Amino acid sequence: MLAPPDLLIPTHLTAERADPSRSLAYADGAFLPLAEATVSMRDHGFMYADMTYDVLQVWRGGIFRLEDHLDRFFASLAGLRLDPGLSREEVRGVLRELVRRSGLDYALLYLCCTRGETPPGIRDPARARQRLLANITPLVLRGQPAEFRRGWHARIVGEVRRIPPDSVNPRWKNSHWGDLSRALWLARDAGYDTAILLGQDGNVAEGPGFNVVALTEEGLLSPAEGVLEGIACRTMFEIAARLGIPARYGTLSPEALQAAKEAFATMTSTGLFPITRIDGRPVGEGVAGPVTVALVNEYYRLKDAGWHITPAA
Ligand code: PLP
Repeated sequence: MLAPPDLLIPTHLTAERADPSRSLAYADGAFLPLAEATVSMRDHGFMYADMTYDVLQVWRGGIFRLEDHLDRFFASLAGLRLDPGLSREEVRGVLRELVRRSGLDYALLYLCCTRGETPPGIRDPARARQRLLANITPLVLRGQPAEFRRGWHARIVGEVRRIPPDSVNPRWKNSHWGDLSRALWLARDAGYDTAILLGQDGNVAEGPGFNVVALTEEGLLSPAEGVLEGIACRTMFEIAARLGIPARYGTLSPEALQAAKEAFATMTSTGLFPITRIDGRPVGEGVAGPVTVALVNEYYRLKDAGWHITPAA
């Protein structure tokens, strides 16, 4: 059981302290206040989810794992046959400029490419003018210490399977969230905080906006197939290696997850968030466990020391 001082989570990044007036957007070559940036109702990204996006974190004025996010963004663009007409260097420049102009030291960067609009009566995606859009907003850190210790109570929603990877490739980051949203509503209806979805094979896939990691007898295990290759999960695995904790991607059955000693969700916005109850039963002691806390503490220690951070200036 953990006393509050054991957790090194920064406590200043709360909704009350965030200043939304510093939010900024980039659209079509210009930087402008976020509220002034718009997307057409006829954009195929809005109408058909014909778009891709990525989310990056700004920490102490620099961008965390910038090149890894750019790798994933450009792989998603290629996979989805999107091309906003900007080079990698130019996209990198947009992101760094958003950080510089906003003056935000702790923020989230949202980057997307939408298919754009086609002339009325024409549905041909090849006739659309694609758009690169981006914005920066202050980082509000979910998982403040009290919330973190309680963790999430998750339901494995077996009745809504993750969309098959050969229909929508989950490695190309996409907004086809029909399955994730439906599972989340079902979990909420049953009194849970969040949902964990299974893949078509009945094994654990991922949740609405996060990868799932279980601590088993052999070490950390996260699903290898049918999921987004989460950058926060990779981060936690790198930290685990530093701490001498074995970690691997593989097959995670729902039973193995239910029997895990600890479990957590990983996502860029928060890094890691404990899952302390699954299907009504406690995971381990039913609070954030020692491995989870060791990982998150090391995560903040390393980031504060500039690990994987590209300065914006
Ligand atoms: N899985 C899904 C479906 C997601 O949407 C996300 C993040 O948005 C993740 C996993 C976690 O990815 P990352 O750690 O790169 O933020």
